[in-house]
Amino acid sequence: MSVPSQTTIVALATPVGISGIAVMRVSGPLALSVAAKLSGFPKNRFRDRYAVFSPVRDPDGHEIDQGVLTFYRGPRSYTGEDVLEVSSHGGTVIPNRIMEACFRLGCEPAGPGDFTRRAFLNGKLDLSQAEAVADVISAKTGVSHQVSYRILSGNFSALIHQMKADLLRVVSVVEAELDFSTHEIEPMPRDTKRKMIDTVLQSAQGLLNTYSTGRLLRDGATVSIIGRPNVGKSSLLNAIISEERVIVTDHPGTTRDAVEVYYQLDGVPVSLIDTAGLASTEDPIEQRGIQFSREFITKSDLILWVFDITGPPSDILEDVSHPFFDAPFLVVLNKADLLTESMPPDPLAGRNRSPPIVVSALKKTGVDVLARRLINTLVSSDLTDQEVLLTNARHKKALEDSVRSLKMAEQLLVSNGEDELVAFQVRDGLSHLDRILGITTADDILDNIFSTFCVGK
Ligand code: GDP
Repeated sequence: MSVPSQTTIVALATPVGISGIAVMRVSGPLALSVAAKLSGFPKNRFRDRYAVFSPVRDPDGHEIDQGVLTFYRGPRSYTGEDVLEVSSHGGTVIPNRIMEACFRLGCEPAGPGDFTRRAFLNGKLDLSQAEAVADVISAKTGVSHQVSYRILSGNFSALIHQMKADLLRVVSVVEAELDFSTHEIEPMPRDTKRKMIDTVLQSAQGLLNTYSTGRLLRDGATVSIIGRPNVGKSSLLNAIISEERVIVTDHPGTTRDAVEVYYQLDGVPVSLIDTAGLASTEDPIEQRGIQFSREFITKSDLILWVFDITGPPSDILEDVSHPFFDAPFLVVLNKADLLTESMPPDPLAGRNRSPPIVVSALKKTGVDVLARRLINTLVSSDLTDQEVLLTNARHKKALEDSVRSLKMAEQLLVSNGEDELVAFQVRDGLSHLDRILGITTADDILDNIFSTFCVGK
């Protein structure tokens, strides 16, 4: 599906600012002539994939810098077109002047994701891989990077291609049976066809089951610490991240706004939020803080609900029995260092829920157990080592649509439905898989996907 571009685009591929070098990327039919004009060398000096050390000049012949020009002849380039990479000294002035020179030589400024979009349109990457490029660049931790990199390397695409191949076999059998009489070909038993579809359904379902872990590993989790004022929420956040980042006082209501701290837990990016204490207050600023807290709570993947272990057990029970949010939560009983012999160590004992975690934020005891429970609740450990995890909501939706069609096809096979309808549903299931790879993807969806990229990628 090669689409030769008429335009030649240029962009700075490295961040703007003071740096040793900057790299500008040019892609399109003018790439080689831009190389020749910037350097003053003849075109034949630029062999495919050879770095050429050269002056870099503007079109008036004024030398801007010295740099390294590397020409990649299409289709053996990132975009599949002729590409020129210019490495110059960094900073703002030199790259700007070189970009200016490229514009004067006929290049146009690239928009966000334009290079990867061209790579996709020229068949260098499928759409799921192109999306993974942005994810790899924006990965917050090693684990997030690994999850996205496996998609970029094509492991996910290979799975989808395998599913497609299996479905195509079913469709071709069903359609051949429609075209030829039973004298001409031996019909395949319906149950065999159903089993073939079922294999694909199992794979699709298996992938769908990885989504919540995959998404958390890619994007990170939002974890809110909530509880009444003064139970030790800020102290707990500090104990978890082992830094005095949040002010702790013994005056209830100090954390007026929610405080968000980015943190890595076993490679999972976690945004830990210390919310304002949830108590009724007349103070308008505190009310605003509580409003913020409620907003954070609604978007949380997990809540740490903190109580003072020395408080009345009936209060704890009352709160925990009536959560005011939907997110899963862990009960944390803080200030364990204040426990006396006469106090029950677990006021929720005997209740039908996962046991509370007893900690002392002050003495930093129990915090490691809390961290472990937190991570185990967020991600299924048996999935983290899996080769491919589903991370993208668009892929999830397409897989769900595919599963729906394939289940219909299965149903039709079981209930002796018409072969035409079976073929139609399997083809529909296939078309949803094609959406993942970008084989059938509308332009506005492509615009939407590539607009999230940075310029120069
Ligand atoms: P928040 O309002 O829930 O954020 O509570 P803070 O973290 O500001 O703590 C309130 C008070 O409780 C402070 O005086 C803390 O030193 C104290 N505190 C917090 N955690 C513990 C703990 O584990 N043990 C004891 N003894 N005091 C604690």
